[in-house]
Amino acid sequence: MPVILLLFAACLIAQPSKFSPAVAQRDDVKKALAFIDAHFDAQVAEWIKITEIPGPSGHESVRAAYIKGEVEKAGLTVSIDASGNVEARRKGSGGGPTVVFAAHMDTVFPAGTDVHVTRTPDGRLHAPGVGDNSASVANLLQAIRAIREANLNTKGDILYLFTVQEEVGLKGMYAWLERNPKVADLLVGLDGALGPVNYGALGIYWSRMKFTAPGAHTNRSKGAPNPVLAAAHCITEIYSVPAPGDSVYNAGGMMTAGNVVNAVPQEVTFTVDLRTVDKQLLASLDDAIVSKCDAAARAQKVTFAREWIQKSEAGGRPEQLEDRRRHPIVQTGIDVLRYLRIPLIKGSEAVATGSTDANVGVVNGIPSISVGRAHGGANHTLREWADIASARLGAKQIILLAAALTEP
Ligand SMILES: [Zn+2]
Repeated sequence: MPVILLLFAACLIAQPSKFSPAVAQRDDVKKALAFIDAHFDAQVAEWIKITEIPGPSGHESVRAAYIKGEVEKAGLTVSIDASGNVEARRKGSGGGPTVVFAAHMDTVFPAGTDVHVTRTPDGRLHAPGVGDNSASVANLLQAIRAIREANLNTKGDILYLFTVQEEVGLKGMYAWLERNPKVADLLVGLDGALGPVNYGALGIYWSRMKFTAPGAHTNRSKGAPNPVLAAAHCITEIYSVPAPGDSVYNAGGMMTAGNVVNAVPQEVTFTVDLRTVDKQLLASLDDAIVSKCDAAARAQKVTFAREWIQKSEAGGRPEQLEDRRRHPIVQTGIDVLRYLRIPLIKGSEAVATGSTDANVGVVNGIPSISVGRAHGGANHTLREWADIASARLGAKQIILLAAALTEP
């Protein structure tokens, strides 16, 4: 009896999935997967090529032009919207959901960064942006070719989307969803390391706190309103604000002040990066931080203003997102990763967080996940690296997700 009970319990907690190993055994799917294996060297060569095209946020047009050309070669009509997002729709046979696959084209590195790729004997590529998110762009391009070559049977349409300005507040995806509110039935963001599946949205507020006063020569500065003191007190006070749960903040990541020794500056600024998945907590922590700044400014008789750098809304705490966790898109993502033997941490196969283009889908109520591209590390630094072999799985994952998710 305990065995039956256990089985019963397992059935109760099993999450619905659209993937089974039988999907991977379909002739068309096998053919598409075989394409990835047969052309992996070309995929890696293109990955290097894409990485070496500079793509700072807001300056993705050279990458976009390259991608457009390649997707057109794969027989699709490609358009670039007013924001610079590249999109192409592959029609299905009908009766299934439209699945959007989105890979962001931009990198965090400014123009002039050396983006030359080096390949080391340990099977790694090294360059700023090689993982985030050039690997996903290369994976998606190769998956597009494989899906065409195998004439993959899909009922739903697949929408291939390469977005701009993900790194500066998911701007490209926000703009795309605003223009195309009813297009995506399901959304898969391609970003991050391989495993786990993200189905939530980490809220991220970036602010610039600005303190201003008339300034003063050192000789006349005794008792003068001092924006430096206001900012200094404010930062000290901010760090007294408790950050419960997953919430975290960082004040002073960037700071500006005066540029001479012998004057109290007219303007001092510092940034605050505040993050949590909890909508209410995000708002209340933001309020607390801003009121610390207000109080510090009043005490020093200087003017305070907050400027927004970016504002990405939170999806909710895990318990608030239980219905999202139960949507088959999440378990499908996990099952595909498992099928490809990508290591997952038990109990954390799916996490209600994420800071990718998929967040925009989550906060707009579209069933959305983000899945990774390759193993790697040191993202957003000049030491960024990526493991070559795992990108093969990154590309195969897209094919398996496309086959499974486009089913009704
Ligand atoms: Zn990214």
